[in-house]
Amino acid sequence: MSRDPATDQLVNYKKGIKSKDDQGKITTGSGNPVDSHTASLTAGPKGPILLQDFTLIDELAHFDRERIPERVVHAKGAGAFGYFEVTHDISAYCKAKIFSEIGKRTPLAVRFSTVGGESGSADTVRDPRGFAVKFYTEEGIWDLVGNNTPIFFIRDPIFFPVFIHTQKRNPETHLKDVDMFWDFITLRPETTHQVMFLFSDRGIPDGYRHMNGYGSHTFKLVNAKNEAVYCKFHYKTDQKIKNLPAKQAGDLSGSDPDYSIRDLYNAIATGNYPSWTMYIQVMTFKQAENWKFNPFDLTKVWPHDEFPLIPVGKIVLNRNPKNYFAEVEQIAFSPAHMVPGIEPSPDKMLQGRLFSYSDTHRHRLGPNYLQLPVNCPYRSKIANYQRDGPQALYNQDGAPNYFPNSFGGPTEVPGVGLSKFTTVGDVQRYNTDDDDNVSQPAVFWKKTLNEQERQRLVDNIVDHLRHAVGFIQERAVKNFAKVDAEFGKRLLEGLRKHGQGNFQANL
Ligand code: NDP
Repeated sequence: MSRDPATDQLVNYKKGIKSKDDQGKITTGSGNPVDSHTASLTAGPKGPILLQDFTLIDELAHFDRERIPERVVHAKGAGAFGYFEVTHDISAYCKAKIFSEIGKRTPLAVRFSTVGGESGSADTVRDPRGFAVKFYTEEGIWDLVGNNTPIFFIRDPIFFPVFIHTQKRNPETHLKDVDMFWDFITLRPETTHQVMFLFSDRGIPDGYRHMNGYGSHTFKLVNAKNEAVYCKFHYKTDQKIKNLPAKQAGDLSGSDPDYSIRDLYNAIATGNYPSWTMYIQVMTFKQAENWKFNPFDLTKVWPHDEFPLIPVGKIVLNRNPKNYFAEVEQIAFSPAHMVPGIEPSPDKMLQGRLFSYSDTHRHRLGPNYLQLPVNCPYRSKIANYQRDGPQALYNQDGAPNYFPNSFGGPTEVPGVGLSKFTTVGDVQRYNTDDDDNVSQPAVFWKKTLNEQERQRLVDNIVDHLRHAVGFIQERAVKNFAKVDAEFGKRLLEGLRKHGQGNFQANL
């Protein structure tokens, strides 16, 4: 490996040390000076060790607790910091102060990730990529916790845990299991659209800089007159889309499983700051009522010709983390972190995530995870009636801990409540499996992909599906044939070239 900035990190660190004082002296966690870090305290040269060796016990006990629970999803990732700059006025739609004037900059953090693999897995695998943005606004944190695709596999969060299980390991073999994957996918055809994205060229981006990001869900924007519209967020890469051919990505998984982390780090370290252009799409409530699809269905896009992209601003990443664990492993995004002017829509997947993300952080990092420096809303002042718990770093001194009170505790903020909305409907569990699962995938197949891209999509699916058991292959071919008969035919031909597909599909 050549001596790029990532490889040279320690060399450069040393260059930054100007004096002995900068270097510091070893201490225990309690700040007491340590005379030796090369020998434990023993009775005689051959041991045993004394229980009074706090230096050793402090060291071992801390080491035993170094790992926090890995993220259940998106465990492998890279992070960076930078800013968002407004380039276009969208105040007609949104009153959030982050958008208040052209040229305004807001600091932000971004974490990119793969989804299914563990923290040590390769980051050039075929998998969606997480694209989560934390805006440190003067109205508190706004987290837009998206992906590199505008859609997702499912549209009801009841499936989220079981769907993720199919992307993880078989409970007996502890291996990734192709039958688990394709069984679920083919039993739930709402996955078709995202599965086609996944097996298309964009299923393996060339690092994190060369892919788009999407807020994916439908959100609500509210303006200063409290008028609301529905909205989608897009970030288009200014580096241009670039993907890895499947063979090269496979090789990299062995030779450089941290390829995407390294690429991002080195780009930023050499001043080659990546950027994305942010756009919104807007849909009025009236349009939403009359639209042919459910506008809150996360398996569908809003076509650009009906809902054009409106430019908003730019995201620029210009600082690497100074410490990976503190700033990337501990960064905690939640779609529930919103600012006045940005609100949830009824999107069921969003509603599920509003609960689940904060919940997982309380488990991973503890109930005071928002006090960690990387997560804290440092540009707004925290004042509330939450107290105590593990690692309560900022416990609000002597301020009253009950409300209402007569002693100068923080007061309510009129005018920042959610915009009013009406909801109607009988309460029941509404199955959505019979919604239209093929129209948009059909457009993607026919219109978005060119002939070479279509063939690579077929080849990539065949290369994976051929390892699944026969009856699941058959169900998959029949599902894809509903998108386009030619698609199903080519998949069957591809399987047969591998001695598979021994069934009658009547295509
Ligand atoms: P457009 O032709 O206006 O948009 C097509 C979009 O497809 C562009 O945003 C393009 O991104 C993106 N795209 C191109 N190749 C791929 C790929 N291999 N995987 C994923 N996305 C790709 O048409 P519509 O808006 O009517 O959409 C047509 C179809 O395109 C949709 O049914 C959907 O399947 C897909 N699509 C739509 C998006 C949307 O938000 N409307 C976004 C992404 C995909 P780029 O401009 O960067 O090349």
